[in-house]
Amino acid sequence: MPTHATIEVPNFGKVEVPTGLFIDNEWVESLSKETFSTVNPATGKPFLDFAHAKKEDVDRAVKSSRKAFKTVWGNNVAATERAALLNKFADLIERDAAKIGALESLNSGKGVRIAREFDVGDSIAALRYYAGLADKSHGQTLNHFGGEKFVYTLHQPIGVCGQIIPWNYPLMMWAWKVGPALAAGCTVVMKPSELTPLTALVMCDLAKEAGIPAGVINTLPGLGATTGDAISRHMDIDKVAFTGSVITGRRISVAAAESNLKKVTLELGGKSPSIIFDSADVEQAASWVAMGIWFNSGQDCTASSRLYVQEGIYDQFINALASKAKACAIGQPSDEATSFGPLISEGQRDKVLNYIESGRSEGARVVTGGQKWDKSNGGFWVEPTILADTTIDMKVVQEEIFGPVIVASKFKTEEEVIELANNTSYGLAASVFTNDAKQQTKLAHSIDAGTIWLNQYGILHPSVPFGGFKTSGIGRELGTYGLEAYQQVKAVHQNLTQTM
Ligand code: NAD
Repeated sequence: MPTHATIEVPNFGKVEVPTGLFIDNEWVESLSKETFSTVNPATGKPFLDFAHAKKEDVDRAVKSSRKAFKTVWGNNVAATERAALLNKFADLIERDAAKIGALESLNSGKGVRIAREFDVGDSIAALRYYAGLADKSHGQTLNHFGGEKFVYTLHQPIGVCGQIIPWNYPLMMWAWKVGPALAAGCTVVMKPSELTPLTALVMCDLAKEAGIPAGVINTLPGLGATTGDAISRHMDIDKVAFTGSVITGRRISVAAAESNLKKVTLELGGKSPSIIFDSADVEQAASWVAMGIWFNSGQDCTASSRLYVQEGIYDQFINALASKAKACAIGQPSDEATSFGPLISEGQRDKVLNYIESGRSEGARVVTGGQKWDKSNGGFWVEPTILADTTIDMKVVQEEIFGPVIVASKFKTEEEVIELANNTSYGLAASVFTNDAKQQTKLAHSIDAGTIWLNQYGILHPSVPFGGFKTSGIGRELGTYGLEAYQQVKAVHQNLTQTM
C-alpha cells in the first residue's frame, strides 16, 4: 500500500495527503501491509484507507523515539532550542491553516470555518503557549541543611510518551498532547483515532520541515485494540497520555499497570450540568448553554448535557433554548456558514438516536429535534435536541450521550441543585448562571468538577488547566500543570566538602 493518496478537497482541488506510518522522519508502510478504512461523515461514503500499525510497527517507533530521546532531544538540547522549534512548527501550521482546516473538516465533518479558526487556531495557540513555557520550568534550591550541604531539584522529561487521542477534536487533542510533551523534552509515539487520522499525519511533514529531529514525533495510525493496546503495554514507553472514553481509559490503566507501570494521564468523558437560577439573564444564559451543548454537534467531553433550571423561569428558559436550537447553523461541512455538522459515524448517530428513543420511552418530553436532519442524505446528522421534564433515574440523565442532546429538569433550592449536579460518576465541568456573587462562589466550591464556568460556558485557554474529577480523568492538561505531567522531579543532595 502506498504511503500517500490524492483526494479532492473543496476549494483546494486535488491534494496529496499522507496515509502511511511516520517513523524516524520517514513515511513507511506497516510491516504487515494491513490497512483500515475511514468514512466521510457528511456523505457516508468511503474516504481514505490508512496503514494499520501493528505491534511490530509500535516497536520500530518506540526504538526511534528512545534513540531520539537519548541523543537529540530530552536533556541533550536546551529548552530554548526546543521552544524555537515549537514556535517554528506553529508558524508552519499557521501558514497552512486554510488547507489543514479543510482537511480536518473533510475527515471529521465539522464546519470548515470552525475547523480552521477554532481547531487549527487553538492548536497553534497551544504550541505557542508551550514554546513560551519550555524554558520557564524551574526546580528548587533547598539550602537549609547547614555547612556546605544543600539540595536542588531538577525537572526532567519523563522520556518516551505514548499519546492516544480521540476523533472529536483530532488536531486540538494532538496539540494539547504534543505541545507540553515536546516542551518538557519528551519524545512521542502518537496514535490518532482510527476515524480521524488525517491531520495528525499532515503534522508530521510540518514537524520535519520545522527541523524537529527524527524520532521526536512518530505517528502511527491504527485501531485501539491493536496499535493502542501495543502502546499501552509497551515495556519501553515511560508514560501514556490518553483522551477518550472511560471504558478505554480503564483498559489503558490496566495495560500500563500490567506492563512496566508506566505513568498514565487520562482525560475522559463527562455529563456536565448547567444550573440556571431565577436571577439569570434568560437570553444570555440560553445562548451560552446552546453553545455548550451544540458546539461540535454535541461531540464534546465538556458538553452542557444536563440542564437544571429554577422553577420560576423553567418554561421561559426551555422556550428560549428551543429558539436557539432552531437557529443552529446546521449544514454541509464545506459551507463556511456551517457550525453544526454531522456526527462522526453511523454507529455514533445510531447510538444518539437510541438514547433519544430511550428518553422518550421513559417519559421525557421531546421539545425540539429528536431525529435525523431531513437533508442528511447519506450523512450522519442528528438534529439539536432538547429532552425536557427528565428525572434522575432516566438513562439519558445518567449516561454520556456524546451527541446534540440536552436533558432538562427544574429545581427549587440551592441545596437541591447541588445534590442533583453531583449525582453522577463524572466530574469534568459545570456552569452556573446567577447574578448573586455569593451563590456563584458557593456553587463553584460545592460542585465536583475540574472546570466551573460562572455566567458563561465552554471557555478554554492554553494557560488554564483542564481535566476531570471522579471518573472524568486523572491529571491535568494545559497550563503549567500540563507541562508538569511530562516531567519528573529529581532531588540532588550535594555535599561540597565530603565531610559527614
Ligand atoms: P475511545 O475511547 O473509543 O477512543 C479513543 C482512542 O482510544 C482512539 O484513538 C482509539 O483507537 C483508542 N483505543 C480504543 N481502544 C483502545 C485500547 N483498548 N487500548 C488503547 N487505545 C484504545 O473514545 P472515542 O469514541 O474516540 O471518543 C469519545 C469519548 O471520548 C467520549 O466518551 C468522550 O467523552 C471522551 N472524550 C473526552 C475528552 C476529554 O478531554 N476528557 C475529550 C474528547 C473525548
